[in-house]
Amino acid sequence: MGTGFVGPSHYGWVPQLVPQLYPGRHDNLPSEDGCISRLPLVTYWMPEPVYFDHAATTPVKPEVVEAMAPYFGPRFGNPSSVHRWGREARVALDEARERVAACMGANADELCFTSCGTEGDNLAILGVFRTVRARGRVAAVTTPIEHKAVLAAVHEVVREGGEERIVPVLNTGVIDEAAYHRSMDERVAVASVMWVNNEVGVIQPIKQLAEHAKAAGAVFHTDGVQAFAKVEVNARETPFDLLTISGHKLGAPKGIGALYIRRGTPLEPMMHGGSQDRGRRPGTENVAFAVGLAVAAELAMAEREAECTRLLNFREQIERELLARIPDAIIHGAGASRAPHITNISIPGLSSESLLMALDLRGIACSAGSACQSGSVSASHVLSAMGVSVDNANAALRFSTGILTDEAAVARLLEILPMLAKKARGQSAPSSMAHVGA
Ligand code: PLP
Repeated sequence: MGTGFVGPSHYGWVPQLVPQLYPGRHDNLPSEDGCISRLPLVTYWMPEPVYFDHAATTPVKPEVVEAMAPYFGPRFGNPSSVHRWGREARVALDEARERVAACMGANADELCFTSCGTEGDNLAILGVFRTVRARGRVAAVTTPIEHKAVLAAVHEVVREGGEERIVPVLNTGVIDEAAYHRSMDERVAVASVMWVNNEVGVIQPIKQLAEHAKAAGAVFHTDGVQAFAKVEVNARETPFDLLTISGHKLGAPKGIGALYIRRGTPLEPMMHGGSQDRGRRPGTENVAFAVGLAVAAELAMAEREAECTRLLNFREQIERELLARIPDAIIHGAGASRAPHITNISIPGLSSESLLMALDLRGIACSAGSACQSGSVSASHVLSAMGVSVDNANAALRFSTGILTDEAAVARLLEILPMLAKKARGQSAPSSMAHVGA
């Protein structure tokens, strides 16, 4: 069967070192057990890889790199120093704070830079809980489809003597609002509900949820990591008290994020040390990355409308054409309002791990569930909470589009995925978990 790669037209061909799975043969197909380490590497000509994993991370935009560069060189000062180097760094940091805050309708003093989305989520939930527990507000309300950064922070609340209340979601992936209302009382410290789910893209009714939590005297946090620049995120329009964003999802480097903190929100710092960031986050600030986040956030906001339309068209094309070719494929969260950049699809009877590997060998990068679950064999906690069967959850693939997605990439996906699915199904009984590519 030649190289085993299906020949494309639209992309350039690039040499790539890949493991030779069956030494002596030249079909380069994955082994049954999928174990490809320790095998000799051989060079194949393969189509230029295409990236469908923007929800995991994005490349840093050139404008961001350019804006950050001076802060690794001549403008290296510490913003806490009083001399000219320090003052220069302080000005850059203050400006960056103002610019990021402006992108979400906030005041500069309401924005705290963090190292990542995970830190923002932890600071929000634990920072509030530790401040208000003395007043008898000891419960954290959340959903089972949150990112692990939120779920683990809520578990920490329990470990520290608090209480967790997990509100279910409907089969669409949208929160059960009646159950949410029932969970709210005078013991709730903080409610944390993500704006856009990172695995299925489902959007939650954040305005109503925030209003309800606040009416009950609780603080409302939303993880906006996948929402920022994909849905309208504005602190003047939506009454969230806390909102997390992460730079590497929008063209800034990994290692920078921000937490919006509405004025008056009770929040104890997680770290102890200096008085940086009004004491909310001690430690010398990462000036270069803060500048990078400001540029990335502004670019993302400026491009938002056009980019969302472009990505929505791609998502609709992918789902429509895949369903035409694989009629029993399942689009998770299809009944809900979803962000344009994520689609999560199960092809019943197949194994997402094997399909992921087969796609990768053919130059298509995507993920099985969330990136944090790669390598794990357990079914996605998000799909399980949505009532998806274990078999179908284990067949799910997430494709997330963004700056690197174009028509040719989509055409390539639509050419390769149905072919792999057909091949895998042809090789196994329909009810069994098929291994693609073998
Ligand atoms: N929250 C959501 C919804 C995410 O998608 C992610 C990352 O995938 C995070 C939080 C964690 O962000 P970070 O990787 O910046 O820690």
